[in-house]
Amino acid sequence: MTATAGPIPAEAGWDTAPSLVDGAMNLTLTAADCNLDYWLAAVAQGTLAGLVRGHHPDAATPAYMRDPADPLRQALVSELGFRSVAEEKATRAIATLVETAPDLDTMEFYSTQLIDEARHARVFRGHLVEMGVPVQELDETIRRESGADIEAVLVPLEEFSAPVLEAGDFIGGVILLTVLVEGVLAPAAELSERKWRVLDPAAAQIERGAGIDEIRHLTVGSSIVKEHLVAHPEDRGRLEELVGRGQELWGKVPVVDMLGRRETLFQAGLDRHRDAAGDYEIWPGRRIVDTTVEERITQGLTWSAEMQASRLAYMGLGA
Ligand code: FE
Ligand code: FE
Repeated sequence: MTATAGPIPAEAGWDTAPSLVDGAMNLTLTAADCNLDYWLAAVAQGTLAGLVRGHHPDAATPAYMRDPADPLRQALVSELGFRSVAEEKATRAIATLVETAPDLDTMEFYSTQLIDEARHARVFRGHLVEMGVPVQELDETIRRESGADIEAVLVPLEEFSAPVLEAGDFIGGVILLTVLVEGVLAPAAELSERKWRVLDPAAAQIERGAGIDEIRHLTVGSSIVKEHLVAHPEDRGRLEELVGRGQELWGKVPVVDMLGRRETLFQAGLDRHRDAAGDYEIWPGRRIVDTTVEERITQGLTWSAEMQASRLAYMGLGA
């Protein structure tokens, strides 16, 4: 297969890709579809064409997002600090999947996902700089604003994943990444894109770009598991057990606490910037200014549960 100079596939086009949740629930893409040729044409020269620091150059970061006293800025600083570290940890974990991939299609796919996640870490940090954090203070700022969440949520996940990755268990690693890490965190990204669309257009575009990549990560990861189970039905019990243990861990880490603090700050900012939010609808028929902390958290968790159920059923792991 060769890369053609043809049109960008709809699922990778800036203006044509579906939303993350819609795409991840309804599209089917395989590692063979999304090899290196695909990525170079559809992503590097498609999705990412013309982006500067992860967004189109004309997308603004409003002045209030540079005011350290503004709760909107505080909400986004702690969110992006946390998520940039999540992306960095994912990048490093994916290096193991590149190493242990059983064939060239999956090796190429994870090589591209490795670059995608490293890019996400970079553009999330980059937006902290756009919000006025000096480059030399990035690490310190992330530690101060997001360190407790990183310790409470990301470190336990990393410790849970380490033995699977260290054992060279490729398909176990794919399950951890696709079902547990991305499947659970992705809906927060969808929520974030919708929340910032008018309040910080640059941030929302950064999320949109990462969300388009995420559609590919979730669909291809799921298809790799599905194909593996067709070839190795004897692995089902072991993988179901891994999913079960991972879900149990997710039940214990304080994700809802973190979302609660994030949305409470966002709410204080929203109340302060009602004019900027105007009549913008976060989802059809619902103005963002009318939403509440609980409503936004519930929507994110609902997307998470729906997406996970649909992906597990597709893989053949839906018990
Ligand atoms: Fe990512
Ligand atoms: Fe991803």
